[in-house]
Amino acid sequence: MKAAAIVALIVVSLLLIVAVAVLIARARQPLRAACGACGRAMMPDWTKCLFCGWEPVRPVPRLEFMVGPLAGQTVPLRDEVTTIGSVAGNTVVLSDPAVSRKHIGIRRVGERYELADLGSTNGVYVNGHRMAKKLLDPGDIMRVGNTEIVFRVE
Ligand SMILES: [Zn+2]
Repeated sequence: MKAAAIVALIVVSLLLIVAVAVLIARARQPLRAACGACGRAMMPDWTKCLFCGWEPVRPVPRLEFMVGPLAGQTVPLRDEVTTIGSVAGNTVVLSDPAVSRKHIGIRRVGERYELADLGSTNGVYVNGHRMAKKLLDPGDIMRVGNTEIVFRVE
């Protein structure tokens, strides 16, 4: 009877140790997103679920106008190319004497967006530096004439 109790105690202890080890191993695994359709785990580099084809809805990158005539407005970058200038025909029209007729363009390049100066008179400044071209990073602040625009992804 006594021996059986000791064996039982050892078995219970071993089970506890295994359970704790499993919990620790699980906690160490990086968080993996689950598929929104079939619920299976998705690897971080998957752009869609390889089991069922479900694609997560990603926010559309956007331009947030902070300073200038359009302050407070947001323009989603839905098109292949978004242009900003002072005349009609641009995606965004800025009535500002310091803005050229076709001032800048923002072009989708794969998953990213590239800003280009379209030969403007006063140039475009990104985070304070005049640039002819720039692959935009989230939070980049562009200055066009008297307008400040933040590139937002999330
Ligand atoms: Zn799925």
